[in-house]
Amino acid sequence: MLTNDHLDAWDRDCFFHPSTHLAQHARGESANRVIRTASGVHIEDRDGTQLLDAFAGLYCVNVGYGRQEIADAIADQARELAYYHSYVGHGTEASITLAKMILDRSPSHMSKVYFGLGGSDANETNIKLVWYYNNILGRPQKKKIISRWRGYHGSGLMTGSLTGLELFHKKFDLPLAQVVHTDAPYYFRREDTNQSEAEFVAQCVASLEALIKAEGAETIAAFIGEPVLGTGGIVPPPAGYWDAIQAVLEKHDILLIADEVVTGFGRLGSMFGSDHYGMKPDIITIAKGLTSAYAPLSGSIVSDRMWKVLEQGTDENGPIGHGWTYSAHPIGAAAGVANLELIDKLGLVENAGTVGAYLQEGLRAALGAHAHVGDIRGEGMLAAVEFVEDRDDRRLFDPARKIGPQVAAALLEQDRVIARAMPQGDILGFAPPFCLTRQDADQIVAATQRAVETVLG
Ligand code: PMP
Repeated sequence: MLTNDHLDAWDRDCFFHPSTHLAQHARGESANRVIRTASGVHIEDRDGTQLLDAFAGLYCVNVGYGRQEIADAIADQARELAYYHSYVGHGTEASITLAKMILDRSPSHMSKVYFGLGGSDANETNIKLVWYYNNILGRPQKKKIISRWRGYHGSGLMTGSLTGLELFHKKFDLPLAQVVHTDAPYYFRREDTNQSEAEFVAQCVASLEALIKAEGAETIAAFIGEPVLGTGGIVPPPAGYWDAIQAVLEKHDILLIADEVVTGFGRLGSMFGSDHYGMKPDIITIAKGLTSAYAPLSGSIVSDRMWKVLEQGTDENGPIGHGWTYSAHPIGAAAGVANLELIDKLGLVENAGTVGAYLQEGLRAALGAHAHVGDIRGEGMLAAVEFVEDRDDRRLFDPARKIGPQVAAALLEQDRVIARAMPQGDILGFAPPFCLTRQDADQIVAATQRAVETVLG
């Protein structure tokens, strides 16, 4: 019989956890919560403790847990055809149907979907496609990628380089030389307090222009960005940011990759963040919300303009030399089809917009005047509370005090609500499933207020 003691010992002795303090965990000093089941917005651990998951796993279980329709679609697909590959023109009903459903929902200039497994591999694909594209066009020197500090695009070699968070570079010999970083559109953390949003956007544009000039536009292939910065702190862009950035990219013939791993399929209250902010990307990265994490699946949606060049490349060079065994895995695709159908049927994109706005209003009403709350921000079903030592000059706490993690821990211990202490800065992040109700939002707000008071008075 499998006891908790077995699980604890095997976990410590055998399991190499991602994004975990390895030594502390092996010594049994860090959290070891074993999740057993889940339903709606709640997960339950092995001791039967129920927790309200206000971060939807890792902002991915968008339709909520325990959806029978998706479980059935996965089981049916596994029985009928667990696997066949998609190389040399093969496909399955599920993968072809899902490609059509994705295109039906994407901005109208998008053309085809390439399937992967997760957000990181999708972004690796994207960079390879950008390089292939420029090689076909006869500009082999146009290869560098611009990413933003605080952007998150994965933790592979290239994608970890694109990620603009020091933790993901440190001791891994990253970033790679082809990656250059520009400023994050983080208005709250602007250096000059008197700067208006418009002035701040102009500064972001000027620093991008300066970077392009210093590197040489003829060496820069693409710019990658999340419509709303996610892991870097849940930071919606200031008004006019994307229009202004896109104008610069167009001027220098630099492709735009919209990384919509978090924002795709409704999190902002619009089907895509690109629609939400009027972005016209050449590639859109999708993952998480594509299947609501019921099975691993990601995708790269490429535009008409890119597709035409890629086709030309294969006419000249033969089949494209890029593919994963599990590209368009039928079980992932079946989960994706059932997931997108459910999102439509239940009106979950709209709910993400309205209940998300309600959650943000609640957080503002409860915490907006707190002496150590510097900023409350969000868009759709994404929200963040940022803590500061001093509200007036926006002075930050000493990171060693770990205020963000302390608040998240209090929230969990006192009221069994899961929010995420974002990895850089004292920022508490919320990204609940789209089926969140107003009552759930009220509970999150009340619990957060209590947690903040416990830690900060
Ligand atoms: N891009 C973004 C915007 C993400 O938030 C993430 C994951 N949090 C990734 C890419 C990487 O996805 P994965 O962890 O599935 O590789």
